[in-house]
Amino acid sequence: MARVVVVGSANVDLVWNGPRLPRPGETVTDGTFTQALGGKGANQAAAAAALGANVVFIGCVGDDEHGRMCRADLEGRGVDCAHLDIVAAATGVALITVDSSGENAIAVAPGANRSLRADATAGLIRRDDVVLCSCEVPLETVAAAVDTAIAAGAEVVVNPAPARAIFPGAIHTPNQLECEALGGVEALVAAAPAVILTLGREGIELHRAGAPVVRRPGFSVHAVDTTGAGDAFNGALAWALAAGCDLEEAARLASAAGALATRAVGARTALPTVDELYALARS
Ligand code: ADP
Repeated sequence: MARVVVVGSANVDLVWNGPRLPRPGETVTDGTFTQALGGKGANQAAAAAALGANVVFIGCVGDDEHGRMCRADLEGRGVDCAHLDIVAAATGVALITVDSSGENAIAVAPGANRSLRADATAGLIRRDDVVLCSCEVPLETVAAAVDTAIAAGAEVVVNPAPARAIFPGAIHTPNQLECEALGGVEALVAAAPAVILTLGREGIELHRAGAPVVRRPGFSVHAVDTTGAGDAFNGALAWALAAGCDLEEAARLASAAGALATRAVGARTALPTVDELYALARS
């Protein structure tokens, strides 16, 4: 089966749940702490691997406990981490504070993710690969990965999250806010072979220049936590494209994966297996 090559971030999320968010200078005690593995790149790699894709992860972590946790988790999921480099910076961390109403304040230290060099994909991309990039790593690295993929004849998807730039030649998968931040769907369609706009529970829209818009309503699920739905969507999209699906079918399956990922709290807790995915997609 064709490979899914994920180029992106690996982070550890340090999550504090408390009665209210601390104001500047204030200490709020009485909270609880949990730790979870995150980073859009690593989450997307995990989602593709859960579906049985042959996944290669290209990223950077530090020579620290967090970095070892990121690697161990991905390897445990069967992801090839031979190109997860160890660099002289701390592994990326997101400090997430959440109050009792669910409001949050998040401080991110990208650390090692900033060290993913533009030549990280040089010589690694084959013609039948699907390359999946997200934007928590340097933009020149994403641009170089897109160029390398196109030069190799590989399919390339950019999840423009956070929304920092448009990458000509890549399929783009923004959510509504990212689409607006990048100048709207017309601006994206002018540069991209296709744009899949993700609309949360409303599903997806597939836009292509000169073709009618394809709308697919969301799958009906009991959503518990929508964190990571987009990552599950992107990982599944890359898996489906690597499996030979056309873009419309890949987007439909990815939408089912996004829906299923909302079944439990956390970005990697409810990633669907291929059987679960087909069970919902056929419903
Ligand atoms: P992001 O997490 O990047 O903001 P979305 O919230 O748009 O992305 O979710 C990605 C996809 O996951 C959606 O297009 C949809 O297919 C699916 N999805 C997300 N939330 C739900 C939900 N509550 N019910 C059904 N499907 C959902």
